[in-house]
Amino acid sequence: TETVHIIGAGLAGSEAAWQIAQAGVPVVLHEMRPNVATFAHRTGDCAEMVCSNSFRSDDDAMNAVGQLHWEMRAAGGLIMQMADRHRLPAGGALAVDRDAFSGAVTQALKDHPLISFQPGEIRELPSEGRWIVATGPLTSDALAGSIRGLTGTESLAFFDAIAPIVHADSIDMSICWRQSRYDKGETEEERTAYINCPMTRDDYERFIDALLAADKTEFREGETAGYFDGCLPIEVMAERGRETLRHGPMKPVGLTNTHNPTEKAYAVVQLRRDNALGTLYNIVGFQTKMKYGAQTDVFKLIPGLQNASFARLGGIHRNSFLNSPTLIDDRLRLRLRPNLRFAGQVTGVEGYVESAAMGLLAGRMAAAEALGRDLPPPAPTTSMGALVNHITGGAEAKTFQPMNVNFGLYPPLDEMRGGRKGRKDRYPAYTDRAKSDFNQWLAGQN
Ligand code: FAD
Repeated sequence: TETVHIIGAGLAGSEAAWQIAQAGVPVVLHEMRPNVATFAHRTGDCAEMVCSNSFRSDDDAMNAVGQLHWEMRAAGGLIMQMADRHRLPAGGALAVDRDAFSGAVTQALKDHPLISFQPGEIRELPSEGRWIVATGPLTSDALAGSIRGLTGTESLAFFDAIAPIVHADSIDMSICWRQSRYDKGETEEERTAYINCPMTRDDYERFIDALLAADKTEFREGETAGYFDGCLPIEVMAERGRETLRHGPMKPVGLTNTHNPTEKAYAVVQLRRDNALGTLYNIVGFQTKMKYGAQTDVFKLIPGLQNASFARLGGIHRNSFLNSPTLIDDRLRLRLRPNLRFAGQVTGVEGYVESAAMGLLAGRMAAAEALGRDLPPPAPTTSMGALVNHITGGAEAKTFQPMNVNFGLYPPLDEMRGGRKGRKDRYPAYTDRAKSDFNQWLAGQN
């Protein structure tokens, strides 16, 4: 059987290697650490957790990431197996002893007869053979340059500048209205593509005060090289002048409040549709380095978002990731060069668990291919399937930013449409459906 090569033994590469080897296909893992360092990793171990030691909620009934844990366990995932073995008490979260965890992942990979290690940095995309690129948010500069050379400069981002994303059904439409600026657009759908939140002068002043006072996170040393002006955090814009935002992302021009057509809003916060399903909206231009707790406090001051529930909060980080919706097919292959698969954070998912899950999928798909089979992704009704569907097709390519798994990525349940069922009913119905569809996907492989 043809060997599969993997670049990067992080969360994604380690899981991919395990899945491939377990399918009986030989693997070579190419890892640059510890010889070539990143600003965040400390060790030469596989699957090092660079920041928090948590895999987030382990609740597989009420939480989409908990459901993803369930799917990875059902698929015999190494990351979940070792996380369970080195679990620390943390309430409903799956937190681990990080050094014991990555030590155990490293040992399991080293002990596997079908896995071998080839230390060193891969500086260029290989043109031959079957490869998985799992080099993560801190992909080395040389390899990033080579990826850009093949796919185009715009196709691999260096930073993520994430605006917060809101669940559409938590926006108060008795305050907000749908309209694009100057009613631009060919179709009715385009002319109503944005949701607008109106602010009076008092609302605006209160918002700016809260923004300036909020707790912010700092960039880490070595993280900011190449930091560009095009994605300034909103609090930095506000520091440059109290009126800056009102002339920037919050300008009220070209918009008429349908609830109150005679009164001009002093400022307007706009939300743009974030997925094809229309279940998620991002706050336009609102990338921020505010701490998470501060973000929810500040954004709830926006009229119409007083009860907003966030699918993800904003941030700006060093993060290499592809414009996957245009570049990657649903088998996680680079359209331009299908012998190259991508996995992990570099595909535009966000988080340890999501990255490992994309490694699991890329690994299974590569192994199937090496054995002369084709493996489709799981249904989009599962957490794994919803994620891969989002990054390779569901997300808007023009504004693509990394995504955590969440129920907003799930196709709505037929029996729940119309009837405004609460989360208590909806979430278990989602995860029941996910488990059954995921089991079917697994059964199809035996
Ligand atoms: P990684 O785990 O980074 O693995 C990529 C591997 O590829 C690394 O081992 C790297 O050394 C290697 N590599 C890179 N280039 C080359 C090359 N050219 N040749 C050979 N090897 C190479 N997620 C969370 O869920 N919680 C957090 O708290 C969190 N904190 C983060 C903090 C920082 C500073 C960063 C940058 C990211 C954070 N993330 C966090 C996001 C993300 O989930 C993790 O970075 C996760 O490790 C991604 O998994 P991965 O396998 O895609 O990449």
